[in-house]
Parts: sequence; structure tokens; C-alpha cells
Amino acid sequence: MEKKLNIVLFGPPGAGKGTQSAMLIEKYKLVHFSTGDILRGEIAAGTKLGLEAKSLMDKGLLVPDTVVIGMIQNKIDQNADSKGFIFDGFPRTVPQAQALDKLLGDRGTGITVMLALEVDDEELMSRLLSRAKVLGRTDDQDPTIIENRIKEYNNKTAPLKDFYRDQNKLRVVNGVGSIDDIFNTLCSAVERSSVTA
Ligand code: AMP
Repeated sequence: MEKKLNIVLFGPPGAGKGTQSAMLIEKYKLVHFSTGDILRGEIAAGTKLGLEAKSLMDKGLLVPDTVVIGMIQNKIDQNADSKGFIFDGFPRTVPQAQALDKLLGDRGTGITVMLALEVDDEELMSRLLSRAKVLGRTDDQDPTIIENRIKEYNNKTAPLKDFYRDQNKLRVVNGVGSIDDIFNTLCSAVERSSVTA
């Protein structure tokens, strides 16, 4: 069986995960896996899960692990024949990463690499406020909500770097610069990791 390429694209809100994941998907023919997109879909469809998630998302807080973990299995199983996944905005906590390892491990695969984009807080704030004007996302529009999202990232999500570092899968990449330069650096990291994984 061909080896899968499963990438965790990691970084704070506004680090460029959406932009870079679109380019990586195109190049490596991966399936995009964004829990944020799935949750926004649930909200748009007016489901119970969407309603519950919306109040937390509007405050810039994470949705509970049980909710997120409950959503992921279907998407993984529906795309079992793909070349791999790019996880964008997931996992965001250690229990989520453990659940993902277990789900992938049970299916004979695993995470190949975590690509961690690093961008300073001031730059994040300015990028998200500009994005608010383009995409109209409510959680991008208010500096207090953005601050909450950055805080949630620092407290609950950033520790995941240690989780993947311990598995020797962490590659840190500077997320400030030209989109193409960053993309090329990410691709080199992917290619080195695919050889060693
Ligand atoms: P994103 O589109 O990845 O920026 O996510 C938007 C919002 O959805 C976040 O601020 C969280 O409220 C929620 N969310 C998305 N993914 C997750 C996750 N993996 N765990 C918890 N909350 C999430």
C-alpha cells in the first residue's frame, strides 16, 4: 500500500494556514481537513452542534474536545482512499492530537509531519483585521475576540509543538515573508520528512 502523507499545518490564527494549505493540497493532492470549516458548515446548516459551537466561536474560545473529536472520524473514513490529509486548525489540544494519533494508527497510518508557522502577535492582529474586510468572518472583526483566540492558542494549542517534537515530527517555519518563499520552505520540509518518516 502506498504510504500516506498526513500533514498537520499548525500556527496561530492569521499565520497563513488557509493560504498555504490550499497550495500544499494542490501540489500533493491531499484532502483538506479544517475543523473550523466543518463547524462553520454546521452553523450555516443550523444544526444543534452548530448552535452550541457558535456561542464559543463568537467569543474566540475553543469548542470542547468531545465535540471536535466526535466530528473527525467520518471525514477520515469518507476519504480513506486519498493520498493523505492536510489538517488545518486541528488538532488544537493535546487530547485532540492523541485522538487523531489513535484514529490514524487504527487505520495503519499516522502523521508524517507538523509544519508550524510562526508569526508575531502584532502581525497576526493586523492580518486578521484585514481578512475581516475580505471574508467577513465575525470572529476576525473585533480586536478583543482576536486577542482571545491568540490567548487560547498560546495556552492550549502551542503546547502541541512539544507533543510532535517528542515524536520528531515538528518543523518550525517563519510565517512572515512572501507567500511563495514560505511555500517553498514548507515543501522542502515535507519532502525531507517524507523520506525519513
Ligand atoms: P479556524 O477556522 O480554524 O480559525 O476556527 C475558528 C473557530 O472554530 C475557533 O476559534 C474555535 O472556536 C473553533 N474551532 C475550530 N477548530 C477547532 C478545534 N480543533 N478545537 C476547538 N475549537 C475549534
